[in-house]
Amino acid sequence: MNVTMIGTGYVGLVSGTCFAELGFNVTCVDNNSAKIEALNDKGEIPIYEPGLEELVWKNVKAGTLHFTTDLKAAVSQSDVVFICVGTPPDADGRADLQYVFAAAAEIGQAMNGYTVVVDKSTVPVGTGAKVAETIRNMNPTAEFDVVSNPEFLREGNAIGDFMNPDRIVLGVSAERAGEVMKTLYAPLIEKGFPALITTVETAELTKYASNAFLATKIGFINEMADLCEAVGADVRMVAKGMGMDKRIGEGFLNPGPGYGGSCFPKDTLAIAQTAQDYQRPLQIVESVIRSNNDRKVNMARKVISACGGSVDGKTIALLGLAFKANTDDMREAPSLALVPELQKAGAVIKAYDPAAMTEAAKHLSDLTFCTSEADALNGADAVVVVTEWPQFGGLTGEMLRSHMRGDVVVDLRNMIKSETVTTHGFTYQGIGTPKQEAIR
Ligand code: NAD
Repeated sequence: MNVTMIGTGYVGLVSGTCFAELGFNVTCVDNNSAKIEALNDKGEIPIYEPGLEELVWKNVKAGTLHFTTDLKAAVSQSDVVFICVGTPPDADGRADLQYVFAAAAEIGQAMNGYTVVVDKSTVPVGTGAKVAETIRNMNPTAEFDVVSNPEFLREGNAIGDFMNPDRIVLGVSAERAGEVMKTLYAPLIEKGFPALITTVETAELTKYASNAFLATKIGFINEMADLCEAVGADVRMVAKGMGMDKRIGEGFLNPGPGYGGSCFPKDTLAIAQTAQDYQRPLQIVESVIRSNNDRKVNMARKVISACGGSVDGKTIALLGLAFKANTDDMREAPSLALVPELQKAGAVIKAYDPAAMTEAAKHLSDLTFCTSEADALNGADAVVVVTEWPQFGGLTGEMLRSHMRGDVVVDLRNMIKSETVTTHGFTYQGIGTPKQEAIR
């Protein structure tokens, strides 16, 4: 089967590469010619994603993975065409579907023979029907079906998630399209990964419901962390105790500086707007959105308080800028709220992230981008761990002491063992844990 992915971003590039690895002939299309040129001419992968580079070149060499800007040529030879373009929020928080419909119109003009058009982008209920309408308007005699196949991969673990999915959701409106989709996913279904076959509308909503629920879990444990700090409890043990209950489950109970990224913030906004449009407001999701927005700003207050009530003129080393570890994605990262708030309060920021420095420089200004943790720590009054890159968990009091001039450690990811720094004269403030004074 020939497969085309329209959009060579996180989802299109990862899932296209994985379909090639599963044995299909895949063409990834993007209208950003610089991206395609970089892939074809310089061999550059546009995103940081562990394991992706090797898998891309393996399949390019095998002749099963191609990159092009020529959508028409790719689509006209394809049995299945995936729409993997961005669906960013518009001014009201609804998913902006202009890229989806533009892609659908181009598909309509290019398709040649029966084609399954698959919406992999995260789109509100009803979009599948509108994609079909757009194609039909462009090409009234076209033979096609539209399928919704939402993607659940997590950046940083994208290949593992694609190849070992908890479920494959297939929203299909016609048996013929269902058979094509089952063939495409057969290598995974045969390994025992479950496929949930449902309607297009149900599949569309399943994606938003899942993300809204996960965001709620994070928002819940974050607020619980604040309460733990106030009452002297330890949120790590509270989360452990909660997670041991199978009805709750242990995942997504790690408190932090608020969720970010390309999905949770925009998907919670979009589902809340859909619910408003249908007069079925999702009050829980709406309050999770408010809670998370407040939290990112409140993290600055936490740092200021840990620094004795003022950061004016103080140098703060920020470790991690990406919205989470193992990615260079800065979309809606908590650091984007934290840095300006600290700067407003007079702090001088030195920052280091193992992968996101180039991306961060597009969004943040008036700070020093450092070349390593040590470089960021040099001369700092306080250090703040913002992103959970595993290497930050290994920081020791000895190392901090040899670089920093101050003695404040704020760990927004609960990664550093407090006793390793308090024994070297640092105060330690984690998330949802009692403040640990320096042992002098
Ligand atoms: P992205 O911004 O990384 O990539 C989208 C790509 O589409 C861009 O390279 C853009 O140039 C290209 N594009 C746009 N219009 C085009 C057109 N007409 N023809 C060819 N190329 C076009 O986006 P992403 O993070 O991959 O997300 C894509 C969709 O998948 C979104 O709806 C998102 O919500 C969803 N999703 C993302 C993730 C994730 O972890 N990033 C996970 C699951 C679902």
